[in-house]
This record gives sequence, structure tokens and C-alpha cells, in this order.
Amino acid sequence: MPNVDPDFVPVSIPGPAATEPGDSPDRPFGPTGEGSSSRTVAALGDLPPQEFLRQAERVVRWITEYLAAPERFPVVPRVAPGEIAAALPAAPPAAAESLDAILDDFERLIVPGVTHWNHPGFFAYFAITASAPGILAEMLISALNVNAMLWKTSPSATELELRTLDWLRQLLGLGDGWFGLINDTASISTLLALAAAREAKPELEVRERGLAGRPDLPRLRVYTSSHAHSSVDKAVITLGLGHENVVHIETDDAYRMRVDALEAAVAADRARGFLPLATVATVGTTSTTSIDPVRAIAGVCERERMWLHVDASYGGVAAVVPEMRHILDGTEIADSLVVNPHKWLFTPIDLSAMFTRRPDVLKRAFSLVPEYLVTREQNDVVNLMDYGVQLGRRFRALKLWMVIRAFGADGLAARLRAQMEMAREFAQRIDDAPDWERVAPVPFSLVCFRYAPAGSTEAERSALNEAILERVNASGSVYLSHTRLEDRYVLRLAIGNMRTERRHVMEAWRLLREAAATSSATPLAATRPSPTGD
Ligand code: PLP
Repeated sequence: MPNVDPDFVPVSIPGPAATEPGDSPDRPFGPTGEGSSSRTVAALGDLPPQEFLRQAERVVRWITEYLAAPERFPVVPRVAPGEIAAALPAAPPAAAESLDAILDDFERLIVPGVTHWNHPGFFAYFAITASAPGILAEMLISALNVNAMLWKTSPSATELELRTLDWLRQLLGLGDGWFGLINDTASISTLLALAAAREAKPELEVRERGLAGRPDLPRLRVYTSSHAHSSVDKAVITLGLGHENVVHIETDDAYRMRVDALEAAVAADRARGFLPLATVATVGTTSTTSIDPVRAIAGVCERERMWLHVDASYGGVAAVVPEMRHILDGTEIADSLVVNPHKWLFTPIDLSAMFTRRPDVLKRAFSLVPEYLVTREQNDVVNLMDYGVQLGRRFRALKLWMVIRAFGADGLAARLRAQMEMAREFAQRIDDAPDWERVAPVPFSLVCFRYAPAGSTEAERSALNEAILERVNASGSVYLSHTRLEDRYVLRLAIGNMRTERRHVMEAWRLLREAAATSSATPLAATRPSPTGD
């Protein structure tokens, strides 16, 4: 139990008397014109507590009603580009405005332009959830406004982050020896992992001497599948390794990296004097959620002394479901791993969990402590600024901690399992329907499929599916996205919102069939707006 200061007085919300005489409830903030100069310091401060409470109640009521029925909004807003900006004043207000007016405008101007990721009919990209415990945590995070750059700048933030990520490690079934920290996104986690991969070869002296003007350096190669996320390419570009040094390895017929092709690429590179630096394997690729054979890839990495990073940012959390643990098979010998609780573990964006078995290397890549950040206990604690680029850090751990506690391991697993079951049922509908075709296995909760009526050409099928997607998304009840697989235009239905029920999935299926019937009956040219807009 932490010591409590005997003089500590609990915070209590003062009554309305705390509001200054002359304060208008409509203009609770700054000076209001004449006479304002005589106001006390409070007039230069924040919202008075009673007013804060009143507005907070309005906001919480709005959130409560929103979460209870997000379906009253179309999933995708019906706005044209520039429409929202045109409704907003071009210049900022000089005088304070009331929160009543601001919140009115939030409802009137902003909400109509929002794409509702928290809508149960959101099936696009990877569907996500801001769950209630996560939302409450976000409120507390803002209120505390902690900057967790150093242990000293908020011991709770650092220690909760380390403890919560260790909980997540256990939930994923990973063994001991993993160090976890939180980044905003998987893109950053992968960037840091590849920076560590470079640092893992200290003989290159990249940290001190850089890459430019170094004829002594070989080309440094990074291997990943042709289905890997573009964040791998962006990390390589950012690290100055050169985009052409990302080697995209062929995949098999289930979109998994071919290990023989990886071995061949590495051998060819070695023969040319290039240095294999790292491989990024994916558990749950973006287009189809395919799972690379991580164990076999890990064998190649070990042999070739390459860093292995596993991008499991969407699929990895499925390992919370005990019977799904196998998806991380082989990861125990990887060097780093990223999973995104903000994708599929009901945590409001943003929260990406990065794990590494080599925190010393990550720290060596990034630690730099100027005098003004020196603290007395720095050798005895973890200072999270040492493990990445950013100095300032949000207190994100609070939301994952609250989500894990509020649902429990069993509750999280049950929700993920139910979503995977809904996806399997949808996949079965596709399999059973004449003229519809499933185009990839369904290891998680994403189904890739298309309308492929007998007798149609490939070009017609692509155009038809594009038209179907437009029609279905225009309904306002569901939102799906697409990808391309071997030049085929493919529809994606991703289930990941906690509020999605079977009826929403079945509604998507009804709309898809309806759109297919209409699109087949309507000449395709008529389904597209003419370039002149008439
Ligand atoms: N990796 C994979 C496999 C993804 O699917 C995505 C996004 O969907 C990312 C990385 C990038 O995630 P983030 O937005 O957290 O950077």
C-alpha cells in the first residue's frame, strides 16, 4: 500500500459558489470583455469544477447513448470531400466560446462527417472496438496527463506498462524472457524492431557513423513476404536502408511466405556480397490474414544470423484464445514481436504492444540521456524513453490494464472466439452460394470473397465487385473494404467490433446479394458517376 500523506485532502467538487461572480455559464473560460481585468487568477485558469462536471455529464451521456445505438448513424458518412472543412470557420475564435456551443457544434458539424468505427456494421480493413473500460481509461489518462518518459516522471505509468505487458505476454502464451513496451502503432513497433536489428550488428557501427558515405558497408537486406504490410517497407525507407533492399518473398497458394524462396533469396544475396539483416514474418497479413510459417522462418534466421521480427499486429491477439495458441508457434525464438490490442483486443486506438527478447539491443539502439533527463535512480529502473525514438509517452497502459481486468482472460477469449465463429458462418454462406467464391482461408475473423457469376470474364468480375462494394457501403448499415489478389478485385469482411452480432453479419450478406443482383442487372457504366458529374 503506498504511503498516504497525512495532510492529503481528497479532491471534492465544490458547489456552484466556486464559480466567480460575473462568470457567465455560457462563457466559462477566459476574459469576457469589460471588467475582466479585475478578475482573479481563476479567470485565467481552467473551467470551474462545477462547470466541468456539468459538461462532463453531457459528454458521458452522449457517449452512453452513442454506444447504446451507434446504428442510428450511417457507418460511412454521406459527405463530399471538403464539406466538413467548409462548415468550419477559417480562423480561430479570438474570444472564449462556451462548451455548450462547442459541443453543439460537435454534434451538428463533426459527427455527420465521422466514419463510425465503433458501429457494429463496420467490417472494413480490420474492424476495431473502443470498449467501455477503454473509454473510461482514456478519460483518466487525459485527466492525469502523465508524461511517462522516465520512471521518475510517473512511477505508476512505467510500472503499470511493464506489468500489463507482462500480463499480455502470459495471455498470449509466450514464455518468460520477453520485455514488452507500448508504442502508438505497429508501424512504429516494426520501425524500432528493424532499428534494433541493425544495432544487433555492432560491427556496422551505424549508430555512430551512419550509412551515408560508407563504401565499407555492404547492402543491408530485409526479407518479408509479398503480402507483408507496407509498414515494413516504410521502416526500411525511414532507416535509410533503401527501399530496394526490401526483398518481397513469394507466397504459396494460401498467401504464406515460401521458406524455400526465402532461403534462395538469402543465398543469392550472400553470393552478391549483400548482408541479410532481418526477416519480418507476418501472423495475420493485411489482405487475407494468412500466417507465415514462423518456426521454419526462425530456423533460416538463426542459421543466417538475421533478426526475426514477427508482425502479428492483427492476428496475434487471437492467441488469447487457448485453442488458437498455435498461431504464434515458433515466435518463442523470434527476436521481436508486435501485437496491437487496438486492433483486436477491444482497446481504443492507439495501443501497440512491442515485445523483444533482446531489450539490451533495443536500448543500445536508442538510449541517449542528456543532462536534463538524468535521474538518481536511472540505473535501478526502466526509463521507457530508452527504448525508442519518442521522449514523451502517454499513459496508455491504463487502458489495456482496465480492458484486461474488466473482461478477464476468459471474457476476452470468449469474445474473440464468437467473432471467429461469425466469420466462419459467413464464409460457409459464401461457400454454399452459387456464383460466390471464397478466395482465401479464414484463420481468424476476416473473410475474403467475391461475386463470380458463371460465364463472366475476369475483368467483368472485378468491375462487378467494385460496383457491389459501392452499393453496399452506400446503404449506411455496413462498411466493407477490398483488396486485390493476383489481379482479382476481392471483397473483405472483417469482424472485430465487440458490438457486432450475427444479425449484422447476416444483414451484410443480404445487402451483398441484393447489390449483386442489382449490379448484374444494371449495365456497369450506369453504376458509375460520369466523369463530368452529370
Ligand atoms: N501490420 C499489419 C499486418 C497490419 O494489418 C497493419 C494495419 O492494418 C499494420 C501492420 C499497421 O498497423 P498500425 O496502424 O498500428 O501501424
